[in-house]
Amino acid sequence: MSEILTEAQRCLKCKRPLCKEGCPVSTEIPTVMQMLLDGKMDEAGELLFNNNPLTAICSLICPHEKNCLGHCVLNHKNSPIKFYEVENYISNFYLEKARLKASEKNGHLVGIIGAGPAGLTLAIILAKKGYSVTIIDSKDKIGGVLRYGIPEFRLPKSILDKLLDRMNDLGISFRPNTLIGPTITIDDMFEDGYDAIFIGTGVWKPNRLRIPGETLGNVHFAIDFLKNPDSYNNLGDHVVIIGAGNVAMDAARTILRKTTAKVDIIFFRGREEVTALEEELMLAEVDGVKMNYYLNTIRIEENGIIVEPVKKIEHEDGTITYENDSANAFKFDCSSVIIAIGQGAQTNIVKNTKQIDTNKRGLIEASDKGATTRPGVYAAGDVVSGARTVVEAVAATKKVAEEIDEYIKKKYNEL
Ligand SMILES: Cc1cc2nc3c(=O)[nH]c(=O)nc-3n(C[C@H](O)[C@H](O)[C@H](O)COP(=O)(O)OP(=O)(O)OC[C@H]3O[C@@H](n4cnc5c(N)ncnc54)[C@H](O)[C@@H]3O)c2cc1C
Repeated sequence: MSEILTEAQRCLKCKRPLCKEGCPVSTEIPTVMQMLLDGKMDEAGELLFNNNPLTAICSLICPHEKNCLGHCVLNHKNSPIKFYEVENYISNFYLEKARLKASEKNGHLVGIIGAGPAGLTLAIILAKKGYSVTIIDSKDKIGGVLRYGIPEFRLPKSILDKLLDRMNDLGISFRPNTLIGPTITIDDMFEDGYDAIFIGTGVWKPNRLRIPGETLGNVHFAIDFLKNPDSYNNLGDHVVIIGAGNVAMDAARTILRKTTAKVDIIFFRGREEVTALEEELMLAEVDGVKMNYYLNTIRIEENGIIVEPVKKIEHEDGTITYENDSANAFKFDCSSVIIAIGQGAQTNIVKNTKQIDTNKRGLIEASDKGATTRPGVYAAGDVVSGARTVVEAVAATKKVAEEIDEYIKKKYNEL
């Protein structure tokens, strides 16, 4: 606690807070800091939650160095304020203690497909405005990637259970284990009286390497592995992960915690092109992950992968090209392989209904306020932007909430 107070006291409460500008949801950082110092915990918690219903989660897993921390004016003195620690303290207190009052119902029903950050944010905002809200998800619990992707050691799932309690306060209904698309469609939902429908289904289709061996029994996709790592009990003593993004780091660090296997990451480029956050990469290395750069995987076998060295060529005009050295391909022994080279959107919804356009990458086309090409259907989060971050999904969805509210009020001449 004293560290939290120290951070709040150290904060300069700048007139033009760069930390707030660097936060995708413009968190009122100096105000919250002052509230804490003035002993106004409940008000601070309410302010944070009303601005960002996932504040307790963002305080733990936002890329702080890119957002509040990275923008703090005290970076000049190498001592930026760790606002997220203060946010975490206040938000957990609030989530545990607050009992939210359900708003009077306005008679309109919104259907939300996907209980990830986007869907949860929208549900809470609209329920507070008086809408009846039903969230439908193919999984058995709320959270999306927060529950079925990000490992427990980075994000305790108990936070999601507390959030569910607050959603119950607001009367939000949750229908689990229901995949929208093959059986129930968006058209069925409209027929049943939903006034607007939101798609926040994320990106769950793993990208393939398209090389021989991807169907073997010892080969897994990271996004599938992370859904339930405990069911992978035969990884053997040496796991190779192909790819170097945050998902690869989460898979690697999970394996190191749950098994005694050695973990190598194979990446076809150099350290400077690793897409994982610097902090995630460093922590993975601290945990014992061995990074192997400039190796391109060309085949997977039962007891190893065949890789070829990649040469980076820096040209005189400053351009860079890469050459694969197939003549010197060699076998990299391992017992299991995990592929972590990104994800795309699934097509369950769009292929079973009309009028919802997607782009070349299969992502849903939506305006910056979330309107899709079908009237009454909105979308945001990863299914629109591609794989991004939780706070970006929250920021995008906040705009959608206003848009849906306006759309429904216009429809019923209530504006
Ligand atoms: C392993 C991993 C680690 C990450 N780490 C971080 C991090 O540290 N910090 C950070 O900010 N971001 C992180 N991210 C990114 C972040 O989790 C996503 O940007 C965010 O979850 C996107 O939210 P969303 O609501 O759009 O989708 P999702 O979280 O993907 O939720 C979509 C939900 O829709 C459901 N669904 C899908 N299709 C259907 C259907 N047809 N019918 C019914 N339900 C359906 C899914 O079951 C899921 O519950 C990470 C991502 C991964 C994969």
